[in-house]
Formats: sequence, structure tokens, C-alpha cells
Amino acid sequence: ALTAANSKLLIVGLGATGLSVAQFLQKTPLKFAVVDSRKNPPLIDVLREQMPDVPVFTGGFDQSALAVATHLVISPGVSLAETAIRQAMQAGVNVISDIDLFACATDKPIVAITGSNGKSTVTTMLGDMGNAAEVKTAIGGNLGTPALDLLQQDADLYVLELSSFQLERTTALNAAAATVLNVTPDHLDRHAGMADYAAEKQRVFRGDGAMVLNLDDPLVMAMREADRPCLTFSIRDTADFYLRRGETDYLMQGEQALMAANRLRLEGSHNLANALAALALGQAVGLSMTAMCDALRKFKGLPHRMQKIAEKAGAHWVNDSKATNVGACIAALQGYERKVILIAGGDAKGADMSELAPAVAEKAKAVVAMGKDADLIAAALQERVPVHFAGNMKEAVRIAAGLACEGDTVLLSPACASLDQYRSYVDRGNKFAEAVMELPSC
Ligand code: ADP
Repeated sequence: ALTAANSKLLIVGLGATGLSVAQFLQKTPLKFAVVDSRKNPPLIDVLREQMPDVPVFTGGFDQSALAVATHLVISPGVSLAETAIRQAMQAGVNVISDIDLFACATDKPIVAITGSNGKSTVTTMLGDMGNAAEVKTAIGGNLGTPALDLLQQDADLYVLELSSFQLERTTALNAAAATVLNVTPDHLDRHAGMADYAAEKQRVFRGDGAMVLNLDDPLVMAMREADRPCLTFSIRDTADFYLRRGETDYLMQGEQALMAANRLRLEGSHNLANALAALALGQAVGLSMTAMCDALRKFKGLPHRMQKIAEKAGAHWVNDSKATNVGACIAALQGYERKVILIAGGDAKGADMSELAPAVAEKAKAVVAMGKDADLIAAALQERVPVHFAGNMKEAVRIAAGLACEGDTVLLSPACASLDQYRSYVDRGNKFAEAVMELPSC
């Protein structure tokens, strides 16, 4: 255990996570300092005002601060491959995360959710389910509130969305239930490769809690540990929680029909998988099935994920700006029949855009490519469908409106990060919605 006598902590990175760590440590006897490579990290003023006595080093990873630290609490945005960090690790410093501190600070059950796509959706669903079941539930982590800030809510159940970067530096988590929803290529510019990326995600299963596994994803099923409680979900086969297809499709638990699939208000079969995963996680921590199904029927989905914007120019306009990788874009296309005009592009983060080709060829009639890697998209897809180029979102929407026929869907599902042209995926989605609203209504 950490004590004031045996440890000097150094918070590496002063963003929302770093600040939450400082505010947490401030209430303990532990000694700590903060370092950030930026000259003016975003939350420096807040930190200086709240805790003027805490040493802060900016404009580089201060060697002397790193040399005296016993533990580095590294924010998810800082790479472990950073030279100064690598050297400190070689010299024997302990690397921990805000999630480790969180796990040590509570004895309430934690549900931990990771995967390439669907994390925020499943985390939010499960939060609603917990509260519907009258279990005081707090959600956060990679989404919304940093984990340590959740402690103030004094909840009885914590649901954490965790990214591969958070998991990479976490060792003390022992979640009551955990899942890897799926593993498809993402962030390959920051991970050594797919095996490495999958291995980071697998760390969510450390400990002895229940494992919730996606039967439809072989990379996830390979993580199964025989001696652990385990629940599976599937939209293709029979599993503990699965989709039974028929005249009416049902979400099933064993022989029991839980609810008709069409009662879910979300687009896309990937959201059925998300619902089944949330049910399995809730079951693993003992939530009432009736309350969980009630919450699912009420769940309206999150903005920027398959969000219907409007019917304009005869077409349906759908904002899936959060599709920042290939897997999310393919999932988005899955639900449509050959009538999609896809707007895609941005920063491909080193991913192989040709993986989009089969789904695009099957579902899309044209692609509007934009952003830094528009050329990669065009090269991968133009043999299959016509590809048009747009310099910005307004132009992309205008081109798509020109291509759309009655009944078509124009889908913004970029398969790429937004940061080359936008502040965030939210900014990108908002620009899309604004441009759509400016179109003439007939
Ligand atoms: P995350 O938090 O993992 O990024 P979100 O729930 O925010 O996940 O969804 C991100 C993107 O992935 C959206 O474009 C959404 O439509 C898509 N998506 C959601 N769930 C899945 C899934 N189970 N499989 C594939 N794509 C998904």
C-alpha cells in the first residue's frame, strides 16, 4: 500500500484525468507533484489556485522530478513510449493509473467496459439499468467524468468505460464484471500492432470477477479463462444472451424472451449486441432483469452515434461522427440496403482503409471523401463506387445532397479521427448537422 513515508507520486499529464488525480491525492497524506510536457497545460490555473503548494513542472518531462518519484500516475494521453518515461521505467519507477487509485479507494462493485466500439453506449445503458433497478449507479472513466471524481457520488455500483491506454497502465483493478465488447483495428499509430492492442484490452479481465464475452468475436473469445464465471452474448448464435431471429426478433436469455428487438429505439444491429452485453453485465452484478429491460426500452442513444438528424432533400441524414475507426463505419453500413451515400475521411491513424471496401461495395452507392486521408479512402474504394472529394463539411453535405435520391440515406460515418479538421468528433458532428439544416427542405 502507498504511504507518505514510502512513496512520492508524480502525476504525468495535466488534463481532466491529471487534475482528478491531484484533487484525490490532496485529500490523502501522500506527497505528489505534477509534470506536463506542454508549457501551458489546459488545467494549470485550476491546479495552482486549488493547491498552490503542489510543485508543478511544465514545458517538458522534468528529469529531476522523474528521478525522485517512486510512482508515476500517467494520464491516458501520455504515451509510455515517451523517452523520459521509458527511462524512468527502466530505472525501476512504478507506473500506475487513476483507475488503480480508484480501485483501491472503493470497496463497491465496479463494472469495467472496454472494446474498440460501443463502450460509451454500453456504459450509459448499464448506468440507466442500475438506476432503474434502484441501485445508485455512477458512470464515467474514459467517458465523461474521470473515475476518481465519481467517488463524490458515493454510489453503490460504479460503471467505468476504459480505453486501451488506460488499461495499459492499470494493474490493481479487480472488476466484479468486465467485458471486451469487440476488437477491431484502432489506434494502430499508438500501439505496436493488433496483438499488442488486444493484449492491452484483455487487461480489463485482471482479477477474478465475471467475464462477459462476445461470442461473435474470435479475438475476444480467445480471452476466456476456464476457471472464471463467464457470460456470453451474440447476435448470430445461441449464447447466454442472444438475438433470436423470427417474424419478430427477440432479445433472449436462455429460453426466455426478454423483449422484442424492435422495442429498442436505436439503429443498427450492433446496438442489439450492445444491449445484450449490457444485460449480461447487469445480470453478473445482480440487477433486476425487469428493471434492466425497462431501462433499455427507454434508452434513446447517445448523440453523434447513428443519430438521425433530419429528412432533407428526399434523404435521411444520419450523424455517426463518433465512428472514428473502420469497425464502427462497417457496423454503421451493415444496417442499410445499397442506398447509402457515405461521407468519410479525416485522420486514418495508420489503419488500412481497404477493409472498408466489401461493406462499401455492398451498401453504398457513392462516397464523399474529405480530410487529411481522403486520398487513402479514394484509393481503397474508387474501384468499387464513385468517390467525390470535399474540402469541408459544407461542401460534403452539398455534394451528398446532389447525389441523393428519394429514400436514400446520407451517412456521416468517417472511419477516421476528426482532429485534422475539427476540435473533436462532437465538433465534426455539429458541423454536419448545421450544414444539413441549411439545406432547402424539399
Ligand atoms: P466507444 O465509446 O467505444 O467509442 P460508442 O458507443 O461511442 O463507442 O460508439 C462509437 C462508434 O461505434 C459509433 O459510430 C457507433 O455507431 C459505433 N458502434 C457502437 N457500438 C458498436 C459495436 N458494438 N460494434 C461496432 N460499432 C459500434
